[in-house]
Amino acid sequence: MNRPTFSDAHLAARAWFLERSVAAGFEARVDAAGNHSAVLPSRFAEAPTLLLGSHLDTVPNGGRFDGALGVVAALEVLRTTQDGHVDLPYTLEAIDFTDEEGTLVGLLGSRALAGALTPDVLRAPRGGHDALLHGLARAGLTATRLADARRDPRTIAGYLELHIEQGPVLENEHVDIGIVSTIVGSRSFNLTFKGTAGHAGTTPMDARRDAGLAAATFVVGVHETVLRDFPNCVATVGRVTFEPGAFNVIAGEAQVALEFRSADPSRLDALEDALVFRAREAETLGHTVEVEPVGRWEPVPLDTTVRTAIAHVAEALGLSTAELASGAGHDAQALAQITPSGMIFVPSVDGVSHQPGEQTAWDDCLNGANILLGTTLELAEVFAG
Ligand SMILES: [Zn+2]
Repeated sequence: MNRPTFSDAHLAARAWFLERSVAAGFEARVDAAGNHSAVLPSRFAEAPTLLLGSHLDTVPNGGRFDGALGVVAALEVLRTTQDGHVDLPYTLEAIDFTDEEGTLVGLLGSRALAGALTPDVLRAPRGGHDALLHGLARAGLTATRLADARRDPRTIAGYLELHIEQGPVLENEHVDIGIVSTIVGSRSFNLTFKGTAGHAGTTPMDARRDAGLAAATFVVGVHETVLRDFPNCVATVGRVTFEPGAFNVIAGEAQVALEFRSADPSRLDALEDALVFRAREAETLGHTVEVEPVGRWEPVPLDTTVRTAIAHVAEALGLSTAELASGAGHDAQALAQITPSGMIFVPSVDGVSHQPGEQTAWDDCLNGANILLGTTLELAEVFAG
């Protein structure tokens, strides 16, 4: 699957979603952030909306289930509710959020809807400014109007998202359904190690200040530190660049992209201290070390009422459950800022995701969709008191 945001394949998938929505008799909507929705209105006037959603965009060369499962299952929940002539105290809306994966910005549509798309975010989009403006234009959108997608939280009853786990926990534990407790927080940094460039042939090994060696030592140190002292945390060096970058020149400078994640805010602080300490060890060998913060997401706990409802429904269907933190980001972390939100995970075969081998058994997809439907009905009773 190759559906980066606003690519031809992505636009075609979104058009397909609206076609299916209209064919089922629902009202189709596209908002100022390009979020695509199918709406089944409540027969009660002024009823708030329960959002059921995920995303149809993918990473480049991604899998079939990441995001798409949640959107297709949401539409099916609307169809089943309609077929069953069920009167709910809320309007149901199946929603496909724009650019969850971050081809352009990341959580673009869900943050716009939640009113969290700040000018700061749009000033430095991760895909670059030109890509953002060009992409929006392809979809008939403009950057200045994106914020108009914001909804009044009082009009939203809650948010439910079915998603594949994208990790190995459910499969390893032989559990049918994951109930997400928290979406982990993350921090990212650019680190620069500065040494002295020099001749690779004439500079003795004991007379070097090799920035490449400092960076490599740091990479090993990150791995060791997290394994030894930070269970349930992850840290990654995803990019290292040496300057000037030649066979025969000792690296005078090395740039390192560091990211780390935890569900616990205090662990994020401790991890930051420990990893920056590891980086600064290079200073004792005469290097200069610069630490520049790049990104910061706080951990987002999901709503306990919704989590309990998911557990009840699973129990009634005879499905086993486990609570787990999501190590990946999701639209739910934007929605959770404004409305009670919950996420349902189904197992990923071998924990594989973001590549073509991504697989979830059809029975697990069906289980997940049934939990999504059941939770939609269960919450109606909870909200009605
Ligand atoms: Zn996803």
